Amino acid sequence: MTGLLDLVRDDLRDFAGYRSARSEKLEGDAWLNANEAAVANVADADGACRRYPDPQPTELREKLATLYGCRPGQLILGRGSDEAIDLLVRAFCAPGDGAIVIAPPTFGMYAVCARLHGVRVVEVPLDDRGESFGCDFDAVGNGAEANGARLVFLCSPGNPTGAALPSGDVAALARRLDGRAIVVVDEAYQEFASTPSATALIGTHPNIVVLRTLSKAHALAGLRLGVAIGDESLIAVLRRCQAPYPLPTPCVELAMRAIDDTALPATESAVAAVVDERARLAAALSNLACVRSVYRSDANFILVRFTDADAAFASLLAAGVVVRDVRAQRGLGDSLRITVGTPAQNDRVLAALRGAR
Ligand SMILES: *Cc1c(COP(=O)(O)O)cnc(C)c1O
Repeated sequence: MTGLLDLVRDDLRDFAGYRSARSEKLEGDAWLNANEAAVANVADADGACRRYPDPQPTELREKLATLYGCRPGQLILGRGSDEAIDLLVRAFCAPGDGAIVIAPPTFGMYAVCARLHGVRVVEVPLDDRGESFGCDFDAVGNGAEANGARLVFLCSPGNPTGAALPSGDVAALARRLDGRAIVVVDEAYQEFASTPSATALIGTHPNIVVLRTLSKAHALAGLRLGVAIGDESLIAVLRRCQAPYPLPTPCVELAMRAIDDTALPATESAVAAVVDERARLAAALSNLACVRSVYRSDANFILVRFTDADAAFASLLAAGVVVRDVRAQRGLGDSLRITVGTPAQNDRVLAALRGAR
């Protein structure tokens, strides 16, 4: 097996990143090494923000590791999984040179990060299998090999398709690309799915990296906290590429409360309610005259094809309901993506569409 670290950009192999004052392991009781203020801001009542934050707070890291079923060292915390996507591209693809593989229609940030870094985006489209989208794993592997791509981005459950990918196929792809590419599995919506997380594969498939986030199931999109989970050596590389203090102190405090023993059960029941509403909304949508087809969803949204998507979008807007227009995406010229809302909001969606052509 080629060393995992051989996949890191040649010019970054011995890159140490920024050494912040916080990263030096020193002991003392008068901290005069980071040019922090000696006295707290009057607006910062308990002085929590006077000092630079811990770059990777140990306690939060341990709690998230427990939540996601990995070891703390296998996890890097950052500003949403968006930051993890950017770090992966910058760590593994030489600027203006490398390539990534994506499977559209998919989340836009993979291509955005690649474009910003001057990296080529190889597209291997998902297959529309009628009730759901599937991934042509052979074609993805071929695309990665033919283009020397160091990163493959899979989204499971997929945004905007809603479809989870079979974990056996993800594992087989990772084995095939062992020593050639990292397989990134973006699991932003994993909590809404009934399939297992790819995190369980990392021990046996060290070239898999899994992305998780507090933005969706945990109802904390404004917190900006997401993680990448992978082999400890890869995670250490990503840490060296990250900004010195990625996590604001108030965000760390809220995150700790959001995954404690009182909040987690509440989140679980909120997720269960979304899953129930998803089934009700999908069934009702598929009975509407204006709906051509409804895709099976493992996420907190539903992808819907309309006989006249323009008219459907306009009817929804006229009723004050804003959904995601995905018609510009590959193969989705007649589709809208509808987030599962409260039962009352979902009823408004259905009422607005009953009036549509
Ligand atoms: C929403 C979303 C994200 C973004 O997550 P953040 O943690 O908020 O940055 C990542 N991937 C997919 C597929 C998403 O839909």
